[in-house]
Amino acid sequence: MKILVVNAGSSSLKYQLIEMDNEEVICKGGVECIGIEGSKISHKVNGAEHVIEKPLTNHTDAFNLVMECLTNKEYGSISSPDEIKAIGHRVVHSGEAFTSSTYIDDEALKKLESIAHLAPLHNPASLACLKSCMSIMSCPNVCVFDTGFHSTMPPKAKLYAIPYEDYEATQIRKYGFHGTSHKFVSQEAIAYLKDKKLPYSNIITCHLGNGSSVTAVKDGKCIDTSMGMTPLDGLIMGTRCGCIDAAAVEMLAEYKNLSTKEMTQYLNKQCGFLGVSGVSSDFRKLCGAIDAGNERAKLAFDMFAYQIRKYLGSYSVAMGGLDCIVFTGGIGENGPTIREAICDDLQFMGIEIDKEYNADIPRNQLVDVSAKNSKVKILVIPTNEELVIARETKDVVNSL
Ligand code: AMP
Repeated sequence: MKILVVNAGSSSLKYQLIEMDNEEVICKGGVECIGIEGSKISHKVNGAEHVIEKPLTNHTDAFNLVMECLTNKEYGSISSPDEIKAIGHRVVHSGEAFTSSTYIDDEALKKLESIAHLAPLHNPASLACLKSCMSIMSCPNVCVFDTGFHSTMPPKAKLYAIPYEDYEATQIRKYGFHGTSHKFVSQEAIAYLKDKKLPYSNIITCHLGNGSSVTAVKDGKCIDTSMGMTPLDGLIMGTRCGCIDAAAVEMLAEYKNLSTKEMTQYLNKQCGFLGVSGVSSDFRKLCGAIDAGNERAKLAFDMFAYQIRKYLGSYSVAMGGLDCIVFTGGIGENGPTIREAICDDLQFMGIEIDKEYNADIPRNQLVDVSAKNSKVKILVIPTNEELVIARETKDVVNSL
């Protein structure tokens, strides 16, 4: 069974064709600059890359080009679009309209349209791509939401203390994001711990990348997560400020003379590692600057580690224990210094990292970096969000 996974941005479309019989990626690629100058597709198959530059006015043009590559006589992987049994779409926000991955019929499409405003930078792009796929392809389309894994959060964790009727009218509450990643790595961790006959009830997953979030996973289910109504909340990130006093936002807006919209842009794009360090939003560059003695880069690093440590404490209490910490994402998988800084001096919580081993671990596989005596397992697990989308799509289609 072949499933096509698509991830649409406002001017981009990433895709992977996955053979679900062995869960192997057959080919993948990305379309850039949809609707703007310089549009092109880069299609990767069998170690080769095929680039086609071509004006693409919208997501329908882009998707048609993807299908051209997939069925290309010379380097294509399928002879007919009918070989694709389903399309799985990554959708950022579910609002309260959906709590799990969903087959999209006309009614579900209307529901999805009604919540597009909740993630104005992301959901409209997914909708455009979804509509293109529904008109071009005859196979089922399934939406898999970034918020989906977090739908199990209890009201006490997910509600903001605003008047309840305002929450009901607006759906404004904590939703959380990176759900497919937190789901994938927590399931991998549970399988590893079960295999070793170790406890696996209380897990904290740290997805640390350009955007970062921490999730408390109790008995396989999310009970709390650091991002909120939008991906701005929680940790300091590449360019996002993370948690900030809401009243300070108005003060900053006055100081910078910014409108509400401009202020949201400022908090999303000019803050975080970039804003604090003045160096870069990129964690590798931040580490390079620290090595060169840049104190503000060190401050951004320290803020990141400190905030994650606070989540370790609060989520351990929320779950009533801690069995395992998982690191994933570009920084979590590749940043030994931040893993060490986060776990430093936490023996009182049963957390002890093997510093030497952690410094140089094998890549692209699950690695256990906990010290021998550590009660809490510390794992580095490469995430695979596309595979989660493909698996969920398969499950939904099989249940139709
Ligand atoms: P992601 O958003 O998951 O793709 O992660 C992107 C972040 O991972 C960027 O800040 C990168 O600088 C960081 N990153 C990637 N490779 C490394 C590495 N080898 N060491 C430290 N950070 C890295």
